[in-house]
Parts: sequence; structure tokens; C-alpha cells
Amino acid sequence: MSASSSQSSRSGSGLVAGSLDLDNYSLITALNSVEWDYEGEPVICSCKMMAPRWTSWTNANPARRFYGCPNYKDPTKCCKFYLWHDPSLCDRGKEIVLELKAREKLLHKEATFWKRQSLILKQNAVDFVEAEIIEENARLKKEVKMLNNKIKEGKSGKWVKLFFALFSVVVICVFVKGSGNIYTCNALP
Ligand SMILES: [Zn+2]
Repeated sequence: MSASSSQSSRSGSGLVAGSLDLDNYSLITALNSVEWDYEGEPVICSCKMMAPRWTSWTNANPARRFYGCPNYKDPTKCCKFYLWHDPSLCDRGKEIVLELKAREKLLHKEATFWKRQSLILKQNAVDFVEAEIIEENARLKKEVKMLNNKIKEGKSGKWVKLFFALFSVVVICVFVKGSGNIYTCNALP
């Protein structure tokens, strides 16, 4: 019975085997979720109300579950009832649980740090790729402009060549015609 309640408590903490969802993860060793659907007969506090089950994470009673007045967070209403569900751990057990608690906190802190680092690196990589694309885009635009200029130069050169060709034809025609006149003049008596 303890195992099932422990498992439901852990799944509620967001811990999934093989992955750590840091956004939704709550430290198991700090979790003080209220259990209302515990097994067995409901425990009734001095207020005659059903007492939910809590988990203590104090140094004196780490991981020890207890039933407490539902109004225990409101000192004006709380009847101060509590009843331990679990037996007290031996000193060695407490020492180990507290050590695990400290290590979980540290690992969570480190995991959060590395998650932030990974996001920063990801953003840097995106910025780098974007900068590369912008640079490549500018280079390609420059190249296109140069090619367009070359095409324009080529077109104007073509017209110049055509002009000179026509000019040459005209000059030749004039020369030929001129030669004909001279010949004609010389042929005349
Ligand atoms: Zn009460």
C-alpha cells in the first residue's frame, strides 16, 4: 500500500523515467503534497474533519508521512492534531535521506544551470547561422549586381560593334563610289 501511494506521489512530481522535465519537476525531497485518497479508514482530526496525509522533510523526520488537521496552515483554525503514519527512521536512515535530499537539490541546480547553458548555446548557434545567411545573401546580391553590369556592358559593346560595322560599310561604299567617279572622270576625254 505504501508503494502505490509513493508511486502516485512521484508521478505527480513530474519525474519520468529516462527524462527530466525541469519545467515541471518538483524536488521529491521537498515535496509536501497533500494526500486525500490514502488507503484505509480516513483519519479524523479534533475538528471532526478528515485529516489528509502530509510528508515531513524536516531534519528530525525526513520523508516521514503524517496525518494532520486540514487547517494546519491556518493557526487560527488548526486543532494541532497530527498522527505519524510512518515509523521514525533510525539515525543512519535519516542521515542517508538527508544526504540524498542535499544531492537532489544540488543535481537539480546543476541541471537547471546546464539547461540554461544549452539554451544560450542554441541561441548563439541560431544567431551565427543567421549572420552567415545575411552575409551570404549580401555576397550573392553583390555578385548579381556585378553580373548585371557585365551584361549591360556586353549589350552596349554589341551596339558599338554594330555601329562600327555599319560605319565601315558606309565608308567602303563611299570609297568605292568615289573610286568609280575618279575612274569615270579619267575615262572621259
Ligand atoms: Zn483539525
